[in-house]
Amino acid sequence: MWWNDRVKMSSGEGSPQVGPTAEARPGSQASLRSANERRIVEALRDGGELTQAQLSRRTGLAAATVSNIVHALREIGLVTVTDTEHHGRRGRGVRLSDSTGYVVGMDFGHRHLSVALANLAQEVVGEHTRRLKAGHRHEDGLRLAAELVDMLLDEAGASRSEVVGAGMTLPAPMDSRSHEVGAPSVLPGWVGVNAPEVASEQLGFEVHVDNDANLAALAEHLWGAGRSAENLVYLMLGEGIGAGLILEGRLFRGGSGAAGEIGHITIDELGRVCRCGNRGCLETIVSTTQVLALLAPTHGADLTVADVVSAARRGDAGSRRVLADTGRTIGVAVANLCNILNPELVLVGGELADAGDLMLEPMREIVSRYGVPGAVRDLEIRLAELGARSAVLGAVAIALHHADLGRVTTAL
Ligand SMILES: [Zn+2]
Repeated sequence: MWWNDRVKMSSGEGSPQVGPTAEARPGSQASLRSANERRIVEALRDGGELTQAQLSRRTGLAAATVSNIVHALREIGLVTVTDTEHHGRRGRGVRLSDSTGYVVGMDFGHRHLSVALANLAQEVVGEHTRRLKAGHRHEDGLRLAAELVDMLLDEAGASRSEVVGAGMTLPAPMDSRSHEVGAPSVLPGWVGVNAPEVASEQLGFEVHVDNDANLAALAEHLWGAGRSAENLVYLMLGEGIGAGLILEGRLFRGGSGAAGEIGHITIDELGRVCRCGNRGCLETIVSTTQVLALLAPTHGADLTVADVVSAARRGDAGSRRVLADTGRTIGVAVANLCNILNPELVLVGGELADAGDLMLEPMREIVSRYGVPGAVRDLEIRLAELGARSAVLGAVAIALHHADLGRVTTAL
């Protein structure tokens, strides 16, 4: 499928429902075909209904190539072809189908649930976010998810039978063998639960589950600030601290799905006890909770991260200092990570990313000081682009990927 060359998952161990993937290595026939398909779908998305001649002109592809791809896309129901008249000349009009099914993306955060409905042309047709009680039970979270899914389907004039699959994020390591939600998690009500199984059962369609930072990294790689990077680290800086890794163009999950737990890098061996049981983890020093706790005695207990950022922008010394120290401490962990993985891009997302350069500049300074020159010379550290939507869009991406494998691989 045409998104396949970008949505490449690691070994597939995390998803036993999925067969061997049709690899689309750069330069391979499959990759070329995939890129051409995407150009055609993008031209149709921009141009509405087009004739094959117009498609050929807009994409620069040969008429025969356009014809083959339109035929293949029609086979899988992604486009419809009708006889049409254009400037007095009869021709065949090609447009994206609007009834090819939907995928659902669900993002469970510490205190929120976002649900998005997208069609198979990668367009999000609706999105809702609700607040969730911290520490909610997984049954309650899924009940709310089901309500939001039904609401979105209603608004789109669709039904659950048209949903071909779903993706879901949780702020926890997902064991890629047992599919159980691992610890530590900021959502204790989910730990030990076989999330794909219970979610699929409750919602009535197949749900694929992954860690939130992993899927946010995937979304940034596909549609956001990481589009041109083959090796990138996405940092999710919020109540928890996590990282998603895209290595050589693929989402890297590690042996059992726990890769990227940067929040539990030891920074201070005798520091505060962390929810993971260790002491002085990065997360015990720089999460949103710690930022607010540091400022509470002088700035008040009702402070929010947005308050801290706007105070810092107005020049408030204490807020600036705390955000800068946060950036520096994260910088130490990032430098270590860069020395090992040598990514070309580090993207910063999550609630603390709102601090922008107030946090990023000190982080860059520390990374360039502690990183070995070969690993950080060309490194860019910048803000992610998709903001709070990155995780839910990543959930959409994984759903599209699996829907593709179920329906489409044989067509390629
Ligand atoms: Zn820890």
